[in-house]
Amino acid sequence: MSRANLPLKETATHLVFGQGSFDAEAMFIGEAPGKNEDLQGLPFVGAAGRLLNDLLKSIKLPREDVFITSILKYRPPGNRNPSLEEIRAHTPYLVQQILIIEPKIIVPLGNFATRFMLSGFDIEEMMTISGITHLHGVAKRVVFDHHEFTVLPMFHPAAALYTGGRLKQDMLKDFLKLKKVLKQM
Ligand code: URA
Repeated sequence: MSRANLPLKETATHLVFGQGSFDAEAMFIGEAPGKNEDLQGLPFVGAAGRLLNDLLKSIKLPREDVFITSILKYRPPGNRNPSLEEIRAHTPYLVQQILIIEPKIIVPLGNFATRFMLSGFDIEEMMTISGITHLHGVAKRVVFDHHEFTVLPMFHPAAALYTGGRLKQDMLKDFLKLKKVLKQM
């Protein structure tokens, strides 16, 4: 029988469904598993994951207390961008994760997750949303299926690794904002 019922399943090593607390107040959503995540079946365990761990530590938020997942549940070959067709096929699982965990705050990391969250989970709409440079660090309310979420977009940690200093400073500031918003809830 074919394994190809979900795009990318055929070429991936492991499903990377997500990791963390089912009672999480904060949920982080990345773009797609990379090489290390694909090998281990766990999200954010490579270099970008180490930066995410440092950022969580900077606000004393234990990684075990949050939930971490990505838009795509399988690695795209060579870490290319997700296609709209792949996003359409994979995000129903993400939406169910959000609805069942019901985090108070959702932190989309990078352009794809931010556009998906701010479009109200609408794939056709999402590419019309402006990029993360304009949206990071600003909390927005999103209503979906009678659920209301606070969405606080941030840069993807991998982008901070490639571009260095300034983006990392922005991320540290955005994490302080996250701490403040969580405290107010
Ligand atoms: N980048 C992501 O977006 N997700 C992961 O799980 C790892 C790296």
